Amino acid sequence: MKNGNKYGTHRVMEPAGTLPQPALRLDNTMDIYDNEILIDVQTLNIDSASYAQIRSACGGDAARMEEMILRVVAERGKMQNPVTGSGGMLIGTVRAIGTRHPDKQLKVGEKIATLVSLSLTPLRIDRITRLRPESDQVDVVGQAILFESGIYAVLPPDLPERLSLALLDVAGAPAQVARLVKRGDTVCIIGGGGKSGILCCYQAMKQVGESGRVIVVEHSAEGARRVEEMGLATHVIVADATRALEVYERVTAITGEQGCDVTINNVNVPSTEMASILVTREGGCVYFFSMATSFSKAALGAEGVGKDVNLLMGNGYAAGHAALTLEIVRESASIRDLFERQYCAS
Ligand code: NAP
Repeated sequence: MKNGNKYGTHRVMEPAGTLPQPALRLDNTMDIYDNEILIDVQTLNIDSASYAQIRSACGGDAARMEEMILRVVAERGKMQNPVTGSGGMLIGTVRAIGTRHPDKQLKVGEKIATLVSLSLTPLRIDRITRLRPESDQVDVVGQAILFESGIYAVLPPDLPERLSLALLDVAGAPAQVARLVKRGDTVCIIGGGGKSGILCCYQAMKQVGESGRVIVVEHSAEGARRVEEMGLATHVIVADATRALEVYERVTAITGEQGCDVTINNVNVPSTEMASILVTREGGCVYFFSMATSFSKAALGAEGVGKDVNLLMGNGYAAGHAALTLEIVRESASIRDLFERQYCAS
């Protein structure tokens, strides 16, 4: 076996000298290096911002979406959406482990979920076996490579695989809520009715306690009703988060001019940065988990309105994030039931 670099730079084809995530093209041949893990892929969970972009570009047509995904992977050697730059993650079975891979616990034949982005994971797709425009979980026959530095989770035996896949895709979000939100805080969750939004709401309600507030801004009336019925917020607003002033007015009608201590952005569409910034108090914090976030819109937009807020980028990884997120569905029967209906129905 050939010697591989810890971070996978040996797979970068262009431009030379970059790491695999920003690279334009990776070597996706499946002869493994001595520090890699080879995976037989079962299902991709394409990142929601990427999937929404693909669905919109293909007019919601499943055959065109399949074509587009296959084209991206053929061109780039990884599933990195050229428009959003984002990826997703996958589940599959360990096929082989390089002799120099440091993890001696993992066994060939175990089912794992990768916890690093598809935007840096060498991937080959032989064929797509199931794609539904309404679900970002795409079944494939193919193989992928995990580098030495690539983290993963062995799929837990007590949860359906598709449920674990859905949860682990967004595990960084509720884990950051656990770090950022304190007792008594006022928290705004934008896109609170989606997958990561619901997990963040649950975690935020737990953190703020009786004296705090969790305000959800959700696009669809149905999503808003669900959040309300599940008791995942103290206040729910139906609004379009791209309409910053409208959201600001509706949220400040609840909080007063003071605004929110922490705002979490979980949407999957562009141009919601300013709604997030305007509703946050001076010195407060905005956590942009959304992959549709624009750094320049957020940074220059905050400056433009003279708002001294802490802007946090949504690092998908936080220590302990997988365990914390899987625990949420063990604690909450209603969230488990909702996600099983959304992700596990055949
Ligand atoms: P999701 O389940 O599709 O949820 C997206 C939510 O945003 C939905 O509730 C949707 O509402 C809402 N939304 C869409 N447009 C809106 C608007 N104009 N105003 C208000 N709400 C709006 O997505 P997810 O899987 O939770 O992912 C959320 C975001 O996190 C995505 O951008 C995804 O790419 C990103 N992500 C980031 C990381 C990371 O490492 N940072 C990892 C995974 C995913 P409706 O359904 O009612 O339209």
